[in-house]
Amino acid sequence: MKAYTEYWTFHTEKRREIVHITDRVEEVVRKSGVKEGFVLVSAMHITAGVYVNDLEEGLIEDIWEWLEKLAPYRPDYRHHRTGEDNGDAHLKSLLIHHQVVVPITGGKLDLGPWQRIFYAEFDGQRPKRVLVKVIGE
Ligand code: ZN
Repeated sequence: MKAYTEYWTFHTEKRREIVHITDRVEEVVRKSGVKEGFVLVSAMHITAGVYVNDLEEGLIEDIWEWLEKLAPYRPDYRHHRTGEDNGDAHLKSLLIHHQVVVPITGGKLDLGPWQRIFYAEFDGQRPKRVLVKVIGE
């Protein structure tokens, strides 16, 4: 069995941003040499996430609207008693989830026709890490 790991750092310009990362993940799979296995893409933070869905601008707007409705930015979260102001970012991360596992078949990401991988930043403008681990043979 082979294992290959990369750590990426994102430093988004905006506090909230969705970044399409499918091509970068595909490149890691290629470098790993794994033909049959899995790749784990995992945000190493509690205010970011990784998800699989459609690369479509309207949908990305809809996702932001949905996240903002369920976990709005507001000043009165209990978490803010710690001096932080990112209560909404923690909740948004829970909604999106922090990691995905994608199958690898024939040396390629075995995604459905419309499935793409995204990094979702909810409290950026500072360095944030993502772990990419390929396992297989
Ligand atoms: Zn916090």
